[in-house]
Amino acid sequence: MVSDKDIRELVSYEGSDLLLSVYLDTDLSAKPRDAVKLDLRQSLKELAVSPDEHAVDAITQYLDYEYTWQSRGLALFAVEGRLWKVITLPVAVPAHSSLAKYPYVRPLVDFRDRYGDYNVAIIDRESVRLFSVSGGKINSETEAYGEGLKRHKQGGWAAARYQRHEDNIVLHNLKQTIELIDAFSADSGYAHLILGGNNEILNQMQGMLPAALRNKVVAEFPADIRISQQEILAITQELLALSDREREEHLVNDTITAASKGGAGVRGLADSLYTLREGRARQLLISTYLESAGYECAHCRYLAVESFTTCPFCGEKDVQAVPDVVNEAVVNALKAEVAVNVIRDNRILDDSGGIAAVLRY
Ligand SMILES: [Zn+2]
Repeated sequence: MVSDKDIRELVSYEGSDLLLSVYLDTDLSAKPRDAVKLDLRQSLKELAVSPDEHAVDAITQYLDYEYTWQSRGLALFAVEGRLWKVITLPVAVPAHSSLAKYPYVRPLVDFRDRYGDYNVAIIDRESVRLFSVSGGKINSETEAYGEGLKRHKQGGWAAARYQRHEDNIVLHNLKQTIELIDAFSADSGYAHLILGGNNEILNQMQGMLPAALRNKVVAEFPADIRISQQEILAITQELLALSDREREEHLVNDTITAASKGGAGVRGLADSLYTLREGRARQLLISTYLESAGYECAHCRYLAVESFTTCPFCGEKDVQAVPDVVNEAVVNALKAEVAVNVIRDNRILDDSGGIAAVLRY
């Protein structure tokens, strides 16, 4: 599974050897193991430069003797003749190899966003169940019951009074529930929250959530308090992927609009690379398959589509051709703590050169 730590470690690679990155579809429900190995050989053949034999052997040996074939996808990184890092992926990925100064991390960034960690709260009038989902699994569950249930059972109030009283209890419980969710959410450190419950209670909660917690809510769904963990996982994973896509669409539209009005956005590879080096980019939006040859200032790592003689940033004249500036831009951005958002199937972004940058100012 993909964590921020994995990605940070990968982009910190500074060796002088070229690094071999290999992505494999290892979903054996669709094909035999030999087909996976054939995909590997095929994708290696497509590289412009042949990779180091020992690195390839290390990957083959891993597949033959160490890999358990339990995950549906695999990302392998080999350098200096050995396997450096292996990351298992929750879904199949198209086979792809890259040999470059830096690891090819774009699919991992995409996975982290789509299958990232999140919390789920299932709520009814009397109780709340809280879940943490990480790496495609439910890792913890907490249950809490409100005072309302006890009092209800003690009962015996006149109908009208009871109704009024129950409303008070419910409000009290919802407040407690929200406090619990808030604490659980803060403890986990996860940025996303999905709420389940009946419509009435979810609507009532909406108005009561503190702003910080409300910003974490990415989706809601109708659910009975007794819903099974399996159902929760299936529903929330789909909702998370959907909400990720919706957020991306908004972000692309806003950025492209800003770019056309001279606001806090630029579109296209040349301008995105320039603002990234300037330190003005806050977030890069990159189409899944965008690749482009280009040039790099070997001194300050300014990247450009067109060749240049003197670097506009540092004034040095050490220009090198780079097979894929997009991958280097991703690595530079991640190193500089600039967010990278991999965008799938978005025509507006594709029409804008497949890349845009959200600017700080
Ligand atoms: Zn430079």
